[in-house]
Amino acid sequence: MKIYDISMDIYHDMPVYKGKTEKRPLFSADSDYRTGSVYETRVEINMHTGTHLDSPYHMLEDGEKLESISLDKVITRCTVLDLTDANDKISKADLERKNIKESDFILLKTKNSHEDILEGDFIYLDKSGAEYLRDKKIKGVGIDALGIERNQPDHPAHKILFKEGIVVLEGLRLSGIEEGEYFLFAAPIKLKNVEAAPVRAVLVKGL
Ligand SMILES: [Zn+2]
Repeated sequence: MKIYDISMDIYHDMPVYKGKTEKRPLFSADSDYRTGSVYETRVEINMHTGTHLDSPYHMLEDGEKLESISLDKVITRCTVLDLTDANDKISKADLERKNIKESDFILLKTKNSHEDILEGDFIYLDKSGAEYLRDKKIKGVGIDALGIERNQPDHPAHKILFKEGIVVLEGLRLSGIEEGEYFLFAAPIKLKNVEAAPVRAVLVKGL
C-alpha cells in the first residue's frame, strides 16, 4: 500500500485564489511559551484556502451544506485522469477520450500540477466538460487549481455539478501522480452551516 499526499501546505504566504491579499490565512498564537505554558494557534481562514471541498451551498442557496455531505462521497475509489496536454481549459472533447464510470470520483490532472504558484490563468473545467461529467453521473470531481472554473460569468461549471449533488475538490497537487485508479480520502473538517472546508486529501494505491 502506498500513500500519496495530494494536499497543499497552508501558511500565510501560500498561493491563494488569483493572489488576492484578503484571501491569505492569518496565523496568531493565543498562547505561546513566553506568555504561558502551552502553545495554541488561532487561524483566520477563508474556507476556500488550499486543498478544500466545496458543497453545493457554495453556489446554490438551497444547496446541501458541508456537514451533510455523505462520507462515502469523499472516502471512495477514484480515477486520476491525465489531461496535461490540454491548454487553457478542460472541455467535453478532452474527457470523451477517457473511460469515466458512473459513481466514480474524477481527479483532473492538468498542467497546473507543474506550477507552484497557481495564482495566474490556471487550466479550468468549462461548461461542456461539467455537463459531460454530470451526464456520466460521477459523485465528485477534483482539480489541481484553486478554482474549478475561472472568469466564466455566472459560474456554470460549479452550478451544473452542484445541481446534481456532485461535490468539488479544489487545490489538489497531482504532479507525482500517474493516471489510474486509487482510493481517495478527502473528508473535510465537520463545520456546521458552511459551504466548504479545508481537506487533507490523500490517495492510496493498493488498498
Ligand atoms: Zn472552493
